Amino acid sequence: MAAPSLVEAKRQVNAYVDSGRYEADIAAVADQARAYLESRVRGGGKLAIVLDVDETALSNLPSLRANDYGFIIPGPCDLPGGPCGLGAWIRMAQADAIKPVLALARLARERSVAVFFLTGRPERARAPTERNLRTAGYEWTALILKPDALTTKSAADFKAPERKKLIDQGYTIIVNIGDQMSDLEGGFAERTYKLPNPFYFLP
Ligand SMILES: [Mg+2]
Repeated sequence: MAAPSLVEAKRQVNAYVDSGRYEADIAAVADQARAYLESRVRGGGKLAIVLDVDETALSNLPSLRANDYGFIIPGPCDLPGGPCGLGAWIRMAQADAIKPVLALARLARERSVAVFFLTGRPERARAPTERNLRTAGYEWTALILKPDALTTKSAADFKAPERKKLIDQGYTIIVNIGDQMSDLEGGFAERTYKLPNPFYFLP
């Protein structure tokens, strides 16, 4: 078998985004979550939704594209030409909202459902993450970031116990939405919603 072509893979990812299919696929999933939330609130209770941040609430597409989908952590972020260091990009706090997810979060607030962000971003990135979420139009109940010193094999090893803590506080998590399976695995949510991410994989 011939080796897969990285050039061709990147071409396909760009075509997926530029054609509008990426946005449409996100909207289809988020619409299902909104419909479930809308039907579920009638049952009452201390309800909550849990949202991931990167490629769920916020889009890092400008930085991903500036790096031609390479993963560059250190250094400054030069847009649009690149390279764009991830740390600098996060500190710039300029990521746009992923609109169908913003609509889901706003619906939750309107229906008095608590909104929790649960992200693998480290605690030291709290200030720019809060600034970015606010600029993007989000309002929330709490933002849960990963402790700076914590490393886990899977993001689920951090995120599932954090969801359990919310349940121990009396919340029923009706919707958990993320772009990685590790955002969703491990239970503690009535429904899980997987957004597409053709750019990167996080265990
Ligand atoms: Mg994510």
